[in-house]
Amino acid sequence: MGGCSFPDCHNSSEKGFKMLRFFYSVEMRSKWTSACKISKLITENSRLCEGHFSKGLFDCDNHLYKLKKNVTPDILIPSPGKPFDVFETDDDNDNHYSVKSNRHKSRVS
Ligand SMILES: [Zn+2]
Repeated sequence: MGGCSFPDCHNSSEKGFKMLRFFYSVEMRSKWTSACKISKLITENSRLCEGHFSKGLFDCDNHLYKLKKNVTPDILIPSPGKPFDVFETDDDNDNHYSVKSNRHKSRVS
């Protein structure tokens, strides 16, 4: 669970990536799947990692990042890096992010 639907992309929420929900509209879903060449079935639980979206595809409002309407992923390579430095998901909406000034780093040994 939590993995990216992009073919051969191994980014996941467990690796610190924010995962973006597919748009509800069938038209946008099909644009995303064709852009990413996704052949598997897209469900409500399908996600693309943030790495496939450049910063220009987000609206930034007072440190809240929101994916613009009707945009398609534009970084079409498997397992890209994180596009932004630090941000955090607003629990109410997976596609809203807020930048955290203090990075909470948990050390894993
Ligand atoms: Zn991905």
